[in-house]
Parts: sequence; structure tokens; C-alpha cells
Amino acid sequence: MKLGLVIDMDTCVGCHACAVACKEWNGASLMAGGAPDYQPYGEAPSGVWFNRIRHFEMRDEAPRDAATGHLNLSKTVNVPMSCMHCEDADCVTVCPTGASYKRAEDGIVLVDPERCMGCNYCAWACPYGARELDREQGVMRKCTLCVDRIYDEALPVAERQPACVLACPAHARHFGDFDDPGSKVSTLVAERDGAGLLPELDYKPVNRYLPPRETPPIDTRAVAAAEPTFRQRLAKMVNRVVSI
Ligand code: SF4
Ligand code: SF4
Ligand code: SF4
Repeated sequence: MKLGLVIDMDTCVGCHACAVACKEWNGASLMAGGAPDYQPYGEAPSGVWFNRIRHFEMRDEAPRDAATGHLNLSKTVNVPMSCMHCEDADCVTVCPTGASYKRAEDGIVLVDPERCMGCNYCAWACPYGARELDREQGVMRKCTLCVDRIYDEALPVAERQPACVLACPAHARHFGDFDDPGSKVSTLVAERDGAGLLPELDYKPVNRYLPPRETPPIDTRAVAAAEPTFRQRLAKMVNRVVSI
């Protein structure tokens, strides 16, 4: 089994609900070991987040489409980042104590807190910024793919998913087995040309991202011609009120 996430950058609205749900679940999770905050109401609040959302603004260099003269709109792309559960993860090989490991049965990368000495080597080796040191406990923390939810037979089957997936209001997150060609995650990747981030580093990340769809240029003249003028809209509104 190769468990991981698919994240749809076309529908992600950057609301951070996944990050908050992750923190809530893993803050109380024995498996993840907690996700502490430091000075949450102080001058410089910080803390451990297993999932962080990055925001980018994409824009064509030319403000207008060369052929049609239509406006080229900019597009905000939100990129949630958590552990990619890489197949060839240097965060595992650099660990001097063997605390960092990848499970053979499902590919989830975990940290054994009993063996971790908080040396930070694994965080430096991770190009995705997915590891965060718990400064209070001196132990490395990271996404566990909610390993304590997904196998919990006390939960209804539909809830045996990572907290981030369940929380996403845009249904931009999907969880499943990439080794199964018929799974939802494999199908989405095949249909939408999903890709792993930073493939050139050869960590073989398991998580996949679905690219944002093209935003068609807007024909502002056609919109202006079709749009009723303010005076027409006002007249329509007054007529409606008068006819009540
Ligand atoms: S994303 Fe980082 S922490 Fe996760 S497996 Fe890959 S290298 Fe390791
Ligand atoms: S911080 Fe812990 S898990 Fe990371 S390399 Fe050091 S001992 Fe291993
Ligand atoms: S909850 Fe969903 S829509 Fe919101 S930031 Fe996370 S992935 Fe994006």
C-alpha cells in the first residue's frame, strides 16, 4: 500500500480549515505527540503546524491577451504543504537514532518520540519544510496521515480519513492508496495530470497536486455591452418595488 493525499489546487480556496483541523486532532493525539503553540497571545506567536498553506499570485506578464485584446486576469493559487511521505526520504536516512522511519506496510513516514533526540537533522534534510521541532519536548513532529484515525475500526468507515480531508469545505483534499490504480486518488491523478512537487530532487513524494485550470481571458467589451447600465438596473428595481 502507498497511502497519501491528492490536493486540488484548482478548488483549494486557501481557507486554512485543513491546517486548523490537523492541529486540533494532532494536538490531542498520542500518536502525533502534540502540536504546541508558543506565546499564542504574545508579541511573537509561533507554534508547530503539520500543514501550512502557501499562497501565490500567478499573473501573465502581458496585461491583455495579444490576439484578442481581452484582459488577462491574475490568479491566486493556494498550496497546502505537509509531509509528502516520500518514497526516497532523506529525512529517514539522515536520522542518527533511527527515530525517523517509513512504514513498509503503507508507506507512512513517522517519528518515534522515544528515540528522537531533537537534533533537527531531518528537518534540514526535508525540502518541503514538513518537519517542525516541538521545543518544549525536544522532539520532532510531523504529519502522520492521521494514522490513529484511518485504521480506527471504532469510527464509521467514512470518517477513517485524515482530519484535514474531512474538514476541507472545498473538497480539495483526497486520501487513498496510490498503489491501487482504481482508487480515487489514482484516478484523479490520471485524469487531471497530477504531479508531485520538486520532482528534480528525486525524493519521490507520494502526495500529488492537481494543477489549477486555465482562467480564460475576459472580453471586457462584451461584458460591458451585455451588462445593463446602472440607470437601467435602478429603474428595474424601482418598478419591482412599486409593483409590490
Ligand atoms: S516531505 Fe519531508 S518529512 Fe515528509 S517524507 Fe518527504 S522528506 Fe521526509
Ligand atoms: S530530530 Fe529526531 S527524528 Fe529528526 S533526525 Fe534528529 S533524532 Fe532523528
Ligand atoms: S481546507 Fe481545503 S480549501 Fe481550505 S486551505 Fe485546506 S485544502 Fe484548501
